[in-house]
Amino acid sequence: MARKIGSRYTANQILGRGSAGTVWLGEGPDGPVAIKLLREDLASDQELVGRFVQERTALLGLEHPHIVSVRDLVVDGNDLALVMDLVRGTDLRTRLERERRLSPEAAVAIVADVADGLAAAHAAGVVHRDVKPENVLLDMQGPLGPGGAHPALLTDFGVAKLIDSPKRTRATKIIGTPDYLAPEIVEGLPPRAAVDIYALATVLYELLAGFTPFGGGHPGAVLRRHVTETVVPLPGIPDELWQLIVQCLAKAPASRLRASELAARLKEQLPTLAGMPPLDVDEPDADLAEEGVDETPAAPSAPSASGEQVRRGAVPLVPGAKPDSNRDTHTSMRVPGPDELAGGARGTARVPRPAGAPRPGSARHRAVARRRRITLAVAGAVLAAALGIGAWLATSGDDSDTPPGTHTSSTP
Ligand code: ADP
Repeated sequence: MARKIGSRYTANQILGRGSAGTVWLGEGPDGPVAIKLLREDLASDQELVGRFVQERTALLGLEHPHIVSVRDLVVDGNDLALVMDLVRGTDLRTRLERERRLSPEAAVAIVADVADGLAAAHAAGVVHRDVKPENVLLDMQGPLGPGGAHPALLTDFGVAKLIDSPKRTRATKIIGTPDYLAPEIVEGLPPRAAVDIYALATVLYELLAGFTPFGGGHPGAVLRRHVTETVVPLPGIPDELWQLIVQCLAKAPASRLRASELAARLKEQLPTLAGMPPLDVDEPDADLAEEGVDETPAAPSAPSASGEQVRRGAVPLVPGAKPDSNRDTHTSMRVPGPDELAGGARGTARVPRPAGAPRPGSARHRAVARRRRITLAVAGAVLAAALGIGAWLATSGDDSDTPPGTHTSSTP
């Protein structure tokens, strides 16, 4: 059933439904378009309509082959709509769900495209803040690239910010997935361009592994892992590619690559990845994750020296949550060392490394125990922060710390 959107557009057919509204296949003066019609409760919010108009210039200014451009913003009676380039294809989440893991070549080609798009946005002072597979569209009508990957375009620039407000997040308690959140956001620092790099490296890891490096279980546990844990290497991953991921998942934002560097380095690696099959990675334990137990998704693929699978223990974050499933939990949390902060280290605190491990009773063993006590204090602070998610979400909707000329988006 067709409906008019403003005086210039007609929405003809629903393409999909998202959290913010419905996306329609539409027609405008220059041909077919995608029209995101925001939900009624959002469209009737005066404050939101005001910001919608304010953001017009920033939203309309982004033009790049790997960005879904916003062509027009329509405020018409009860309708609030974003008119976007039409991408004929699917989103990256759908492809990942279908294939579970992509070949390294395809994964790298897609992520390089997104990094290119981000480079253009960052150069224009725009931080996306919500990079995740759902916000990457694959243009099935575009030419096939390396690994059979269609061109990838980053979407939802600015859109999430429009619907995000402290009032709304508090009222509805909508929490997006914390899997892609950079540690500095967890710690309450203002999001800069480097948060997009961290999120994109998380996406790359997910495309290769089939799961995110720090996801699984209670959201608070995920937040804590972003701050305290290092990522476990994926079996069979080429070293150069792994180094890129580690660098872009560095805890310190300044240690991460810039988007343009990341795009260039990824493209350099494409020839060596040609023909490589998807990595053979064990799935994380879904049952434990669903129960809210802090079970690492990465650890199952990291056998210990004895050949056993290493399991992540549980950290109860809310009253009444399950107790720890094993003893190797809080005590193995630690403050990332300088090399890890710089992104150079590998492995997680939970992966035992018997070779060179301190003997009980030795001076080094005592030093490690002391460090663990310090870590417990830090962990306590992080858990407290995690429990204050509502407050953090409210902060994330506030761009007052953002440098002048920077327009950001975030999904509550
Ligand atoms: P939200 O961000 O509100 O959750 P989405 O952006 O995910 O909504 O859109 C919902 C659906 O519409 C998705 O399945 C997506 O594939 C489709 N879609 C979104 N934008 C476009 C576009 N520009 N062209 C074609 N399809 C789109």
